[in-house]
Amino acid sequence: MSTPVFKFCPVCSAPLTEKHVYHALRLTCSTCSFVFFLEPKVVTVVVVEHKSNLLLGRRNIDPGKGLWSFFSGYMERGEQVELAAIREVKEETNLDVHLENLIGVYSEHGNPHVVIAYRASVINYDVSDMVAQPDEVSELSFFAPETVPPLAFPTDADILRDWQRLQT
Ligand SMILES: [Zn+2]
Repeated sequence: MSTPVFKFCPVCSAPLTEKHVYHALRLTCSTCSFVFFLEPKVVTVVVVEHKSNLLLGRRNIDPGKGLWSFFSGYMERGEQVELAAIREVKEETNLDVHLENLIGVYSEHGNPHVVIAYRASVINYDVSDMVAQPDEVSELSFFAPETVPPLAFPTDADILRDWQRLQT
């Protein structure tokens, strides 16, 4: 993902220029000394388990439209990370989940995303509660771990591998 290009100061609208500030090249205002800190983006991913099967959603949006994936989304600024994870599952599946434990934290050089992945179980599972949110997910299905289809993101494979390690 490329870094967005910001041209003007959000405080005073003067042009931004790149300067070395706090050990890095950053966009700074030429007039009011505002420093534009481009911060990482936190993504929560939830591996939802029910009776030893994994719940996946088929993505209805790019990237990865048509492929299956775990439930993920951006954490809001000021939100508690565990609640962000639970909220994303609710938004995409209408299911209430209980987080069991952390699977791992994933990041790579040059990528602004920090992925935090959890295991979760469904609270009071009832199939009639499960509804795919069509803006994001076209279909929901449970898969036995050994029948999980190709997943949408490289990080999904890392998360699945680390989830499998937790089972032993
Ligand atoms: Zn300014």
